[in-house]
Amino acid sequence: MQILVLNAGSSSLKVDLLDSQSGDRTATLRAQRLGTPQASYSLESPGQARQSTELPGADHAAVLQAVLPTLTKHPIQAVGHRVVHGGTDFSRPTKLDSSVLATIASLESLAPLHIPANLAGIHTAMALLPDLPHIAVFDTAFHSTLPRRARSYAIPQELGYRRYGFHGPSHQYVSKSAAAYLDEDPRDLRIITCHLGNGASVTAVEYGRSVETSMGYTPLEGLVMGTRCGDLDPGILLDMLRSGKTLDQVDDILNRGSGMAGLSGVGNDLRDIEDRAADGDEACRLAIQVLTHRLRKYIGAYAAVMGGVDAIVFTAGIGENSALVRHRVCQRLDFLGARFDEDKNRDAQVDRNTPVAEISRSNSRVRILVAKTDEARAIAGAVGKVAAGGEELAENPPIPIGISARHIHLTQEAVETLFGPGYTLTERAPLSQPGQFACNETLTVVGPKRSIEGVRVLGPIRPKCQVEVSRTDEFFLGIDAPVRASGDVANTPGVTLKGPAGTLTLKEGLICAWRHIHMTNADAERYGVKHGDIVDVTINSSGRDLTFGDVMIRVKDSYALEMHIDTDEANAAQISRGDVGALVSSGKGGTLLRRRTNFDPA
Ligand code: ADP
Repeated sequence: MQILVLNAGSSSLKVDLLDSQSGDRTATLRAQRLGTPQASYSLESPGQARQSTELPGADHAAVLQAVLPTLTKHPIQAVGHRVVHGGTDFSRPTKLDSSVLATIASLESLAPLHIPANLAGIHTAMALLPDLPHIAVFDTAFHSTLPRRARSYAIPQELGYRRYGFHGPSHQYVSKSAAAYLDEDPRDLRIITCHLGNGASVTAVEYGRSVETSMGYTPLEGLVMGTRCGDLDPGILLDMLRSGKTLDQVDDILNRGSGMAGLSGVGNDLRDIEDRAADGDEACRLAIQVLTHRLRKYIGAYAAVMGGVDAIVFTAGIGENSALVRHRVCQRLDFLGARFDEDKNRDAQVDRNTPVAEISRSNSRVRILVAKTDEARAIAGAVGKVAAGGEELAENPPIPIGISARHIHLTQEAVETLFGPGYTLTERAPLSQPGQFACNETLTVVGPKRSIEGVRVLGPIRPKCQVEVSRTDEFFLGIDAPVRASGDVANTPGVTLKGPAGTLTLKEGLICAWRHIHMTNADAERYGVKHGDIVDVTINSSGRDLTFGDVMIRVKDSYALEMHIDTDEANAAQISRGDVGALVSSGKGGTLLRRRTNFDPA
């Protein structure tokens, strides 16, 4: 599928027309200094000479208007737009319509330089290509899986600041390229991806999901960048302001006058800084030392965050090209099991045909890789999937967790025994699974030891009675209940139920529910699982992370995606409302799932 990818900056515009699967380019446009008398663009197509054009005063719209007749000679199926910030509203590529555009506009304060430029590009392209689907891909979306402890700053939460993270498409793209190179599933790997361009960030990608990243509320935090300072004692800011600098001056120092430019005093191009450092320039040497020291520090930290690391990946202008930076960062990482190969590092070269090169020794447990990033291709791939009708794009999207309190399912006959002849259950509240509801009716469950009052009945009525309790409830009642899938009640213990109109002793039906995930066939395909499969799910909760094994997959098109656990399990992992889990392998080198052949859950 041919996708037109637009990346509109404040005074620049990058446009790529490329195939969403192969990544082959049909055309590449680069425009700079838009809105100034020096505005210009260049257009390149394979087999054709590069055309450079001056267009004084041109803005995004003028450039697009000038080049679209050439670009639309090729068939285009969809347009992808890079949008730098999706706030908490967008965690996946999203088709643009008026309501999505309004939400993006409302996020302007989060990225005041970028969002207006992104929107200008989007509006122009939508006006010029009104019949094509336009899809936004957000820089922040890949980091929507950051656990709460990683996205929270230690300031009063009501102020509303949180870590968002950026460079998402690049981190996701190179982590996948690395996994492909290693012939592994990304869901089996813990990868540290280092995107080192003019802007730079490092991400811990644990089993396919971003769990830590160095950029924060804005793209100013973290690594030393071309002109941005990265991590800084916030006290310095206060001091600058107190000592009389204006807000704009501070902004200018931190965003445009710091980083490699600020340290070296010779600008932000690492090639110049490396040359001068080699000639003995102390400021340039210091700049390189601070840059590489900080990244080493992050790598150690992120290995600790993930409890280990399987691969470290370098990408973007510096990561792909500077053997010196990679060398300095990877020194003395042997303690992590990362053994660096000097010769391979010096010779490493990546391009579109050879997207990954390895720079670790053959006996290195941690693989060190250089990977070519291609943000336009990452965006085109995501857009191609949405345009083809797949609504979900993340490889391993989070699974909402539902906590089931003890409850009872009844047949109509049992309802009448317990509540009176002709009685029908009444709905109190709908449940997350379509058609299911909590009833107003409750019963007392009577065990040999004790009873539990007020146990909720769930509707609608079922062909068999079933009482689902937790292990704690079993001890309380004094009955051992087996772990069973819902509906599988043969040879389970019975129990007595007491209602307002009568008592019913069930011969069987008391179970401790087998933890399970409800999903549709489309979900199952996306996760690569089948009905009856047994998988592992990791839950990042508030300080009591837990991986649940033996989680059963239950597939039906009427299901809503949700993992169900009981109250004991939820307490063990300290899960609260809104927490999510991730499907993971059963460990490095292990299989993602074990298929059960002798069991067919209803
Ligand atoms: P952007 O964030 O603007 O997309 P890039 O990913 O293009 O940035 O990276 C730009 C950085 O890469 C610049 O600092 C440049 O000096 C650096 N770079 C490019 N090639 C080399 C090289 N051969 N050696 C060292 N640094 C390089």
